[in-house]
Amino acid sequence: MGDGIGPEIMAQTLRMLEAAGAALAPEFIEVGEAQYLAGHSSGIGPEAWDSLRRTGILLKAPITTPLGGGYKSLNVTLRKTLGLYANVRPTRSLAPAVATKHPVLDIVIVRENEEDLYAGIEHQQTPDVVQCLKIITRSGCERIVRYAFEYARTNGRRRITCMTKDNIMKLTDGLFHRVFVEVGAEYPDIVQEHQIIDIGAARLADTPERYDVVLTLNLYGDIISDIVAQIAGSVGLAGSSNIGLGGALFEAIHGSAPDIAGQDVANPSGLLQGAVLLLRHIGQHAVADRLEAAWLRTLEDGLHTADIYRAGQSTEKVGTRAFADAVIARLGQQPAYLGRPAAAGAAAAAPTAAPTAAAAAVPAVPRPAAATAATAAIEQVLVGCDVFLRWWDGRPDALGQRLAALTGEGLQLKLITNRGVKVYPDGHPETTCTDHWRCRFVAAGTDTKTTTDFLPVTFGALLRLQQVLTDAGLQVIKTENLYLFDGQRGFSLGQGE
Ligand code: NAD
Repeated sequence: MGDGIGPEIMAQTLRMLEAAGAALAPEFIEVGEAQYLAGHSSGIGPEAWDSLRRTGILLKAPITTPLGGGYKSLNVTLRKTLGLYANVRPTRSLAPAVATKHPVLDIVIVRENEEDLYAGIEHQQTPDVVQCLKIITRSGCERIVRYAFEYARTNGRRRITCMTKDNIMKLTDGLFHRVFVEVGAEYPDIVQEHQIIDIGAARLADTPERYDVVLTLNLYGDIISDIVAQIAGSVGLAGSSNIGLGGALFEAIHGSAPDIAGQDVANPSGLLQGAVLLLRHIGQHAVADRLEAAWLRTLEDGLHTADIYRAGQSTEKVGTRAFADAVIARLGQQPAYLGRPAAAGAAAAAPTAAPTAAAAAVPAVPRPAAATAATAAIEQVLVGCDVFLRWWDGRPDALGQRLAALTGEGLQLKLITNRGVKVYPDGHPETTCTDHWRCRFVAAGTDTKTTTDFLPVTFGALLRLQQVLTDAGLQVIKTENLYLFDGQRGFSLGQGE
């Protein structure tokens, strides 16, 4: 039933589902805070996994992830364990029933759900430096990009905007963008564009009417879907589906809202929308239509929970239970005007039958070829190594000269960076340095000015280098090997390299 407002909104959502005639035989599992405190560090116990494997489908109330070390987010664990790689978050304006500055808004955010910084791989490297690994895979990009295009086709959507930050993260976000272009070539019927996430997010908040489907990476998708739901009226209105080969999970996009828990004021609409998506996923479209129509009619009639209540515009401020009562009382009724898709903007979706405008159909989950088949033939050549040192003397030149004297055996020091900025050779005295130094070693004889022509090195030479550095009293934190892939550089340059 979840945490915070979870039990309240889940109880009312279940009542609405039952009243609408949903043919469900639910199994109930406990996840969240109580499970964390009972010693299950991921917030879910073994019996719950058994149930999930049996049913493959979960309607989940929001849960609270306790702050502090040792607790992994249950949401992330569920998505990753069940392989739920596509997070689909539809939002549309419900104006004039629900007040919004953006009456023309009908956007589906397709968010990659398993990779990126949400891989949750974090390490403290030195007393001053912590890091979080951003993991992006070609196979993961292909899966989500293909899903987005299939989703657009299945739902009569015309345009996909891909948002990344590949002007900065050329390898990770760059891969996502490249795969978008590659896969997009197979979908000439869909208008395609790319925007840098910062200006993209700004435009989403300013002119949402120009967007249709937005495809993006995990973290950006999490952020922009809250923005879009909020400017459409409230984060309390939107639901989402998490789709994968191992099952499907449906939920509200918002969290457990502890600030309003237990007060019967929360809006149950987000979870209800999650339930509607679930019904469509299992083919119960008639029940989904009935529920959605009654929900829209309730909003049109001005029965609003506190988050969307506006004096003079709403007719009555209702609590969670009373809102559900109102929806149940309207089962069988049709909305007067909200069944139609949002007014046609430049990017509005093709008209679909009322009242299932937003996020109606779930495309078949694409099964891309295994990553290994496409990538096995790629040649990977070792050309050097970044050795990360903890070093407490802030003078880069002193470190550089010491390392230059220590190399040998087919290797040479190419440069040193601190927080990604080149500090040796020819650094700038103004650069602020921390205690974490990235020292790049390449084959002796490599032109140290080159950014393209690297020579092979042996793994043994790199191992012996670490021993030499350690014997000289230097503290090796970690290493990252440098590779060429079919001759292409597989590592970023240092700022200023
Ligand atoms: P939140 O979404 O819970 O709340 C943000 C704001 O929106 C609050 O002011 C809240 O009162 C309001 N709000 C949210 N849902 C509402 C609803 N249905 N009706 C009316 N108002 C609503 O975000 P938060 O406060 O940052 O997070 C609280 C907890 O939820 C944290 O522990 C976080 O980890 C967790 N969380 C869980 C999920 C999930 O289970 N999928 C998602 C996000 C956050």
